[in-house]
Amino acid sequence: MHTSLLRRSAVLCLALSFGAGLLASADDSSSISNDPQTGKAASRKQSARPGGPASSRAQDDEAVRARAERLHRQSIVIDTHNDITSPLLEDGFDLGMRGDDPSAKIKTHTDLRRMKAGGLGAEFFAVYVDKEFVKKKPAEGGGAARRALDVIDVVKEQIRRHPESLEAASTAADIRRIVKSGKIAALMGIEGGHAIEDSLPALRMFYKLGVRYMTLTHTNTNDWADSEGDINNSSVNHHNGLTDFGRDVVHEMNRIGMMVDISHVADKTFYDVIAATRAPVIASHSSARAIANHPRNMSDDMLKAVARNGGVVMVNFYDGFLDPRKAELALRSRTMEDELKVKYPNDPKRAQEEIEAWRKANDPGKTPLSVLMDHIDHIAKVAGIDHLGIGSDFDGVPLTGLPVGMEDISKLPILTYELMKRGYSDADIRKFLGENLLRVMSQVERVASEMTSNPPAPSNK
Ligand SMILES: [Zn+2]
Repeated sequence: MHTSLLRRSAVLCLALSFGAGLLASADDSSSISNDPQTGKAASRKQSARPGGPASSRAQDDEAVRARAERLHRQSIVIDTHNDITSPLLEDGFDLGMRGDDPSAKIKTHTDLRRMKAGGLGAEFFAVYVDKEFVKKKPAEGGGAARRALDVIDVVKEQIRRHPESLEAASTAADIRRIVKSGKIAALMGIEGGHAIEDSLPALRMFYKLGVRYMTLTHTNTNDWADSEGDINNSSVNHHNGLTDFGRDVVHEMNRIGMMVDISHVADKTFYDVIAATRAPVIASHSSARAIANHPRNMSDDMLKAVARNGGVVMVNFYDGFLDPRKAELALRSRTMEDELKVKYPNDPKRAQEEIEAWRKANDPGKTPLSVLMDHIDHIAKVAGIDHLGIGSDFDGVPLTGLPVGMEDISKLPILTYELMKRGYSDADIRKFLGENLLRVMSQVERVASEMTSNPPAPSNK
C-alpha cells in the first residue's frame, strides 16, 4: 500500500498511539472463533452429539482447529505482497529480529520466527519504489531504477544472512522444492512500473536479478500507464490506460516470464492489460469493491475478467481497503493529504501530524476478521475459487491497520480454519493458500518459453 514517503514515521506514530495492538492478537483470534456469524459449521454439528451443546461445540471446534492446522501445514502457503523491505532498507531491520517484541525499537508484522509460525512457504518481497524517487538525485537515493536495485540488494542480503530459513526461488518448481526442504522460498515483485525508467533492457535485467512480477503502477501514473491513485488529478498527464509502449512492456513481461500485476492501476489500464496480455495476470494485493467501495479494490466485472484470463486475485488484508467504513475514510484522507502538502509545503511533519490527528478522531474502531473472510467469499463466488489467493500487504500498512485476528504474519493459519468453518473443501483451501498462484506462475513460464522460441522484433521506446 504505502501512503507516502512519511509512511515509516506514520507507522511508528500509530504504534505509539494504539499501544500493544500486536500483543492482544492471540486472545482476539480465539474470541473470533466463537462469533456466531462465523461459527456455522460448529453449530450445525452440535445437535448430532450427546453430552450437552456447549461441550460438544467446544469439542467440534477443537476438531476443526486440529484439522485446519494439519491442512495448513501440509499446504504450500504463498503471500504475494510483503513490504518488510522498507524497514529492512530504511531502519536496518533484520528478519532474524523480533518485530513484535514490546521493547523493540522497530515494530513489524513480519520476521522469520513469525513467518514460520504462519506456515508460510513462499514470500514475494515487494521491491517498492516510491514515486518520489523518479525525481530524486543520486545523493538523495534516486532515481527509480537505482532505488529498485537498492531494495533488491537488501532482499538478497537477507537470503545470504539466513540460509537455514530462506532460499531464492525463480520458478514455480523452485517454490515446491524449497518448501519441501523446509525452507521459505524468497521471491521479489517490483511495485511501481516507473522503476524500469521506460527501458525494456532494464526490465529484462530486473528479471535476471530475480524479479518475478511487476505492479505496472503504484499510486502514480507513469509515462506509459495510468494509476487509480491520481486518476482524478487533472494536473497529471494521463494516457487513457496503457500507451503503445505500455503494451510493449506487457508483451516483454510475457516474453521473459515476469507476471503482470494489475493492483494499483486505473480501471482503463486494467482492461487494456487484459486485452494485451498473452499470459494470465495477477492482482498481487487487491480486494473486492462490491464489499468496500475503494478504487484499489476490484469490481465484479474486473474479477470476472481475471477469471476469463486465467489469472489470480490475491486478497489484501489492509483494513482501509477491507472495511467499507474505513475505505471511505481512506479516500477522504487521501484528498486531505494532498491538500495538507499544499498547505505546508515546507513542513511535512506538521502535515503528517494533522492527518494522524484527523485519522484518530475519525477512527471507526477495529475491523472484525469476518470482513476479510467476506472479501474472500465474494471473490470465490464471482471469480471462482481458482482465481483467489493471499496478498497480505504486511508492513506496507499501519502496524494496527489489520483485522482482529490477522495482526501479523504468524496469524495466517486462521484463514484455513475460517474457510473450513465456512464449508470450503480441503482442495479448495489449498488452491487459495498457494496452488492457484503456482498454476499462474507455471502458465506464465510456459507462455514465455513459447514466445522465446518465436521472439518478436525487440522494441524500445
Ligand atoms: Zn501497494
